[in-house]
Amino acid sequence: MGVLDVVPAGVLTGDNVRKLFEYAREHQFAIPAINVTSSSTANAVLEAARDIKAPIILQCSQGGSAYFAGKGLANDKQQASIAGAIAAAAHIRAVAKSYGVPVVLHSDHCAKKLLPWFDGMLEADEEHFKKHGEPLFSSHMLDLSEEPKEENIAECVRYFKRMAPLGLWLEMEIGITGGEEDGVDNTGVDNASLYTQPEDIWEVYSSLNAVGPNFSIAAAFGNVHGVYKPGNVKLHPELLQKHQAYASQQLGGKDSKPLFLVFHGGSGSTKEEIKTAVQNGVVKMNVDTDTQFAYLAGIRDFVLKKKDYLLTQVGNPEGADKPNKKFYDPRVWVREGEKTLVERVKEACADLGNVNRL
Ligand SMILES: [Zn+2]
Repeated sequence: MGVLDVVPAGVLTGDNVRKLFEYAREHQFAIPAINVTSSSTANAVLEAARDIKAPIILQCSQGGSAYFAGKGLANDKQQASIAGAIAAAAHIRAVAKSYGVPVVLHSDHCAKKLLPWFDGMLEADEEHFKKHGEPLFSSHMLDLSEEPKEENIAECVRYFKRMAPLGLWLEMEIGITGGEEDGVDNTGVDNASLYTQPEDIWEVYSSLNAVGPNFSIAAAFGNVHGVYKPGNVKLHPELLQKHQAYASQQLGGKDSKPLFLVFHGGSGSTKEEIKTAVQNGVVKMNVDTDTQFAYLAGIRDFVLKKKDYLLTQVGNPEGADKPNKKFYDPRVWVREGEKTLVERVKEACADLGNVNRL
């Protein structure tokens, strides 16, 4: 029995998202969430998932969403981020089924100052729900980890009450993930807050579970966003087991892993650390930094190798009258980046055990 016996191909919503994560948790693998910024990157991620027969998560950050709409648009009221996220969702929805894999369509970190972006996406979800009986997206991430704990949890509950009836999954973050991403700089925070406590996780779980079962928690266990010098990061994925054990005990002990956990800031972590995280109930791991570099690699190598075919439209080492169209056509050189991105996504899936799962 595989994933397709549990959920259909295409964009998942409602309980199907939970069924996918339950399947992953039970079978001890996790699904990478790859940040996409264009139809080109989205297609490459879907292609990789299809090739290795695996479910996949595509996510758009606030900045990535704005890019999807076009960097030429003003974004002072998050209007480009809203339009871009909707455009990304429309594109992914239009092609996902053709790739034959289950897809979770997710929006990445939304901090307090970016809430107008979140509100705009929720309005689009509500509109989509009215017409089609399901939300536009599969899930959204609310990151109020910089705010006081009480405010973080209360705001997540408030939003989750609006999301749950639409069949939207909520991912929240508690504790601070170090590093820098989308303008939130946590490189200077003190060490203790880089590790979330089991009691805090339980408080989140019990508060959200009163609204519905479709949510996940990104806990801090020494993780950082972006790649740092090795040795600067002290990752403790074994701590996640304590969160599961504490929550399990509070719930009476019949479910040993009640939490759906998410791994942020995984770039640069070892295979052993990833394995421990997955064994402890991590079902989703964010991957962005490494796939950004992979997308560049193919384009960079092509341009460097074919430099003499790219300086003029006509004329190359094979002759002054030779046309260069088959080198400068974007379908040729952008495709080279897609190929290296596909390979890197396959590697991320393999690291998480997300191969041959359909
Ligand atoms: Zn995070």
